[in-house]
Amino acid sequence: MSEPVLTVTGLSQHFPLEHSTLDRLRRRRRPVLRAVDGVDLVVGRGETVGLVGESGCGKSTLGRAIVGLYEPTAGEVRFGAEVLAAKRTREQRRHVQMVFQDPYSSLNPRMTVGQTLKELLHLHKMVPRDQVDARCRELVHLVGLPDHALASYPRQFSGGQRQRIGIARALALEPQVIVADEPVSALDVSVQANVLNLLSDLKRDLGLSMLFVAHNMAVVRQVCDRVAVMYLGRIVETGPTEDVFARPQHPYTKLLLDSVPRMRPGYVPEQTVKGEPGSPVDVPQGCRFATRCPVAFDRCLVDDPVLAPAGGHGQQAACHLLDLSGSRDSKDIAHA
Ligand code: SF4
Repeated sequence: MSEPVLTVTGLSQHFPLEHSTLDRLRRRRRPVLRAVDGVDLVVGRGETVGLVGESGCGKSTLGRAIVGLYEPTAGEVRFGAEVLAAKRTREQRRHVQMVFQDPYSSLNPRMTVGQTLKELLHLHKMVPRDQVDARCRELVHLVGLPDHALASYPRQFSGGQRQRIGIARALALEPQVIVADEPVSALDVSVQANVLNLLSDLKRDLGLSMLFVAHNMAVVRQVCDRVAVMYLGRIVETGPTEDVFARPQHPYTKLLLDSVPRMRPGYVPEQTVKGEPGSPVDVPQGCRFATRCPVAFDRCLVDDPVLAPAGGHGQQAACHLLDLSGSRDSKDIAHA
């Protein structure tokens, strides 16, 4: 991995929930939703790291906490050597920008694209006043839109064009890291490839690093150098994309890959992830995946596994089976 540009250490994002009147009368402790619960993650310079997992696993919340949309409950986010404060300064907010899944809801429908970009450039004093118009034109060209897009409102664009505007807005602040939260999942299949190609060209040309949040494993395999698999608020496996796809070390990763036809050479459908994920409000003791894991054993119900080297090439997984067998081929998991 190249020099770290973004380092997340022990990051937790908990949300206190409303108490029912009965619970309040009974003086029960207020329930807490542990969306993200002690995550460590590194993105190297120029690298794209995929963050994958089922819906509700906390990956979008983690992305939002990293860009500073939430004040973390615990842990820290570092940009290079600089710790980004929970309440970020304007300068700190510039370093890490987000591309949202639904660009329409994140754009002001009453402002033209030009007004949106100008407002950002003024607010962050990105360029001298007499260069703002030129910079706006440069930004829309960067994302493949014509000059006249600046005079149009978000409703006048297609979904793919809106996502391009969302990318232009993120680039306006000249970030070094982009957190792309399911950037193509709301788009037609026919335009997904165009937006993915645009992101990868921009990343190469501008020297960006990217955290790519997605549930589509095929897309992750196509665009990511490394991958981190998330389950119930935690990273359960991480490593170079090709290694994780070829030799998954965690039972959850293996089941995720098995549930997507033809993700691995010699694919033979075996099992899919069965059952519902546990609740982030009532996190089970021991391994969080134990209630769905086909190879769980006694220790899994009481002992919470931590990420440890597995499989070589920088791969890590959080599973007690690794203590028993060390690195293993994925077939071993299926038949353990
Ligand atoms: Fe399955 Fe146990 Fe490994 Fe958790 S620790 S993934 S329950 S084998």
